Amino acid sequence: MFEYSGAIHIHSKYSDGSGSIPCILEDAKKAELDFITLTDHNTLSARVARWEGWHGNLLLMVGEEVSSRKGHCLALGTKQRVSHRQPPAGIIDDIQIQDGLSFIAHPHGSYRPLIKRKNHAWRDWTITGFTGLELWSYMFDWIKDFHYLRFYQHYRYPERFIEGPNPQTLQLWDQFCQTSRCVAIGGVDAHARKYPIVGFTVFPYEQTFRTLRTHILTHEAFSKNASKDIPIALQSLRQGHCFIGYDFLHNTTHTRFQSVDKTLLMGDEHVFEHPIELEIYVPISADLTVIKDGQPLESLFASKHRFEAKTPGVYRIEARLQNKPWIYTNPIYLRSGAQT
Ligand SMILES: [Zn+2]
Ligand SMILES: [Zn+2]
Repeated sequence: MFEYSGAIHIHSKYSDGSGSIPCILEDAKKAELDFITLTDHNTLSARVARWEGWHGNLLLMVGEEVSSRKGHCLALGTKQRVSHRQPPAGIIDDIQIQDGLSFIAHPHGSYRPLIKRKNHAWRDWTITGFTGLELWSYMFDWIKDFHYLRFYQHYRYPERFIEGPNPQTLQLWDQFCQTSRCVAIGGVDAHARKYPIVGFTVFPYEQTFRTLRTHILTHEAFSKNASKDIPIALQSLRQGHCFIGYDFLHNTTHTRFQSVDKTLLMGDEHVFEHPIELEIYVPISADLTVIKDGQPLESLFASKHRFEAKTPGVYRIEARLQNKPWIYTNPIYLRSGAQT
């Protein structure tokens, strides 16, 4: 397998981000990312301006954040803009019709800048057919307890406020996974918002790119031909061959969750016929928890571990480092014959 790490969910000057594309590319290179996914609100202007593709060793993919009043959805791999002036079901349908990928952005995101709480949550959970969830939104994790009275604390020590995916989102994700694949990704929602009077930039791009990353695993190596490589990256995301790493704590590259015989990889669905040995690797020893159907199965402190999946279920791994959330893998879905 080949592994590439990237930052997903980035805003530029084409919507409400502060950075131009060259500045974002520069910062992503400094942070040594392999790919970035630009998702400006309701626009594919960066693609129209021909920024999509390789820039040195960095692959820029252009999607959009379809931002409606009933929630936001990241659309990747779509050819044309999707209207945000329609009910959420129409947004998901339009992305699907274009064979694109749809990730519900900051599914339970809300914050209180001053008096009134701003709700950026997805409103309609009766809808199905989306590819997955932005399980962990770095920006909304940071901003959930934000108040302007505590601005400096938040600004100066952002890592203190990072607690991992919203528990409601996590619970919902586990529920969705029971019936069909629901791919989890991490998003930074980078804006590099500037406060000119006080001279602050909240989360400059480079700083953000060193935090939460989505690592994709591909069967084929990138060839530096964007028209081949972008579909390879999108296919990995579509299949859930990816994990979320809070690389700020320690680089999560080389994390694996797979069957011992390597025929099953995180994200794969398989009909359970007999017990299967699964294995997990993380780069350094951490608190690992095996989760089955949303419930902890076992916990241990290790950098590798093997266990037997004795019964059908949705198996995934969480790792904590220094008592902070660090890694969330996509599940291996072992479906009972009756379900499939
Ligand atoms: Zn949003
Ligand atoms: Zn956004």
